[in-house]
Amino acid sequence: MKSGFVAIIGKPNVGKSTLLNAYLGQKVAIVSDKPQTTRVRQLGILTRPDAQVIFVDTPGIHKPLHKLGDWMVESATRAASDADVIVFLADVSDLPSSEDRQIAELIHEQANERPVILALNKMDRLPPEQVKEHTEAYWSLLEGEPTVQWDWMMVSATTGDNRDKLLEMIVARLPEGPQYYPEDQVTDRTEREVVADLVREQVLRFTHQEIPHAVAVVVESWDERRNGTIHIGATIYVERESQKAIIIGKGGTMLKKIGAAARHEIEQLIEGQVFLELWVKVRKDWRVKDNDLRELGYVEKE
Ligand code: GDP
Ligand code: MG
Repeated sequence: MKSGFVAIIGKPNVGKSTLLNAYLGQKVAIVSDKPQTTRVRQLGILTRPDAQVIFVDTPGIHKPLHKLGDWMVESATRAASDADVIVFLADVSDLPSSEDRQIAELIHEQANERPVILALNKMDRLPPEQVKEHTEAYWSLLEGEPTVQWDWMMVSATTGDNRDKLLEMIVARLPEGPQYYPEDQVTDRTEREVVADLVREQVLRFTHQEIPHAVAVVVESWDERRNGTIHIGATIYVERESQKAIIIGKGGTMLKKIGAAARHEIEQLIEGQVFLELWVKVRKDWRVKDNDLRELGYVEKE
């Protein structure tokens, strides 16, 4: 049996969480078109008869602007330095940016003998006439690193093109090892944490500009009623009164929209009927305070 940790690193928005969910066949990581959606390192565990692949979905590497940002980059760097295989995910529909170069540098520092797979995602959005220029531009990020053992693959996380091939490439590079997790465990996050993120995902979907970054969600209560319905209470924290007003919306319409969409996602996850109650609270400048970060769940797991 082969087993090991596979760190998926890449700048925000390249498709790390989408790829992970596709491999697991269910949503353990939330996805959005807003950068910096993934805030905590999370495991996605794929078990098959011949291998256990433990994916580490990381917050995107970016230039941190506040304590939460610092913490996210640190968390991604640690994941890379602990991994058996590093998957460097990039958006091939675009040319490399300074953030991609920053990641190549991180790989240079952290890879030491770990195999690296450069996965060029979003191939469905790459016009044929740009294939040569874009792929060569990404290769050149790693070509200059003689100590790094790397290979590459073009892929689309959403259409599924080359997704299986990429998985086989990953499995082939895993060491021999035991099954670390029970075969029915797909993530290291608690159900409450995943549910909190499903609520946050809908906030990201319906709001714009500064709101997505200012939001944290905590599940406060969870009871199963006699009729089988699960009552879940969650608080959406924001940094300012003005943001609270936007999330609640005129006559509560926005919060209703968020709640209905989140409930639908949660029901799919737990395969049961859910009654979801949401509150919105202001917690001034939580993103820059260590204590608040810890209380809102931004702590490193063992
Ligand atoms: P992350 O920040 O790297 O985790 O990126 P996400 O997984 O949240 O994806 C960011 C956005 O890119 C979402 O809107 C995805 O639907 C989209 N996306 C991801 N993979 C692909 C792909 O292969 N092709 C296209 N066209 N879009 C993709
Ligand atoms: Mg993500």
